[in-house]
Amino acid sequence: MPRIYHGYNPIIYMTSIKFSELEQLERIIEGFGGRAETEVIDRIEYKSHQFPIYSITLGSTQVDAPVLAFFGGVHGLEKIGSEVILSYMQTISQLLDWDEEFQRRLEKSRLVFVPMVNPVGVYLGTRCNDNGVDLMRNSPAEGVGATSIFSGHRISPHLPWYRGDEAKMEKEARALCHVVNQHLFNSPLSIALDLHSGFGIQDRLWFPYASRKSPFSFIAETVALKELFDRCYQHHIYKIEPTCQEYMINGDLWDYLFDEFIKRFKTNRLFLPLTLEMGSWLWLRKSPMHLFSRHGLFHPLLPHRQQRIFRRHFMLFDFLHRSLLYPEKWTQLKPEEKIAYEKKALGLWYE
Ligand SMILES: [Zn+2]
Repeated sequence: MPRIYHGYNPIIYMTSIKFSELEQLERIIEGFGGRAETEVIDRIEYKSHQFPIYSITLGSTQVDAPVLAFFGGVHGLEKIGSEVILSYMQTISQLLDWDEEFQRRLEKSRLVFVPMVNPVGVYLGTRCNDNGVDLMRNSPAEGVGATSIFSGHRISPHLPWYRGDEAKMEKEARALCHVVNQHLFNSPLSIALDLHSGFGIQDRLWFPYASRKSPFSFIAETVALKELFDRCYQHHIYKIEPTCQEYMINGDLWDYLFDEFIKRFKTNRLFLPLTLEMGSWLWLRKSPMHLFSRHGLFHPLLPHRQQRIFRRHFMLFDFLHRSLLYPEKWTQLKPEEKIAYEKKALGLWYE
């Protein structure tokens, strides 16, 4: 069997407070052993402890390999995102033991995982990091007409949705940007999936922009990918739309990264940042008393509901991975197809 994995960077665990998500992640990293490359992107200090931000990479090291990357725990309170990623990593570590088809997929592609972008937030159960900054409002991207407090503000870190210091992004936000630069911008074809929870009763799959109501550069490809998904999985659960369809914000990290990408590479490469917003109000409707617990709005509290959510999204993850391996149908569009998809997008979301 060909050797398809990177070398192994041994990790020295710094003193950090152990909590279940971090312990689980470190167990999974140990389970991958030499099959994954693990990097501590940064360490966040909190009360004389250090919380690592891990990035775990599996698969091809070729520069032209397509990349699928998972990000979770940007909002610490929404730790279900981290847990879904950990559960998926657990599945993959088992598949790698025997599934030769999956092994071959990884020879031709790369998977990247940053399950806890905001580890102190996950530990404390807070949306923000310890500086009171909402990391998804922390980039320099300015919303067009996004003026509510919810959209992100610079009034005070004691209010939610605080954007932080204008001059410098937070360590956690920079760690996320570092991974995107290193792995996704350097690939000709990549998808990022950032997992969140806490909005609405339906699971949503969002694409740019969150800062303005206009189509982004890969809108035709996104509609083509959506149609492929709709056609192959007719009963899928996702509402697919631009974030701005639901709300507009300032400082969105993905809008910022996307604009940076276009500045650097134009449309010569394709980078698709997606957000999976898990519709947690549904869990609440079934157990309204959970509204009164800290995690109630953002995290399923009953074990059976939690397990169902772990399983619920694996089909999407698998589809995205395969769409990167066989991208012809949605990335190599003829000029007339492109125009038709753009027109369709206007009708669906922008008129
Ligand atoms: Zn969130």
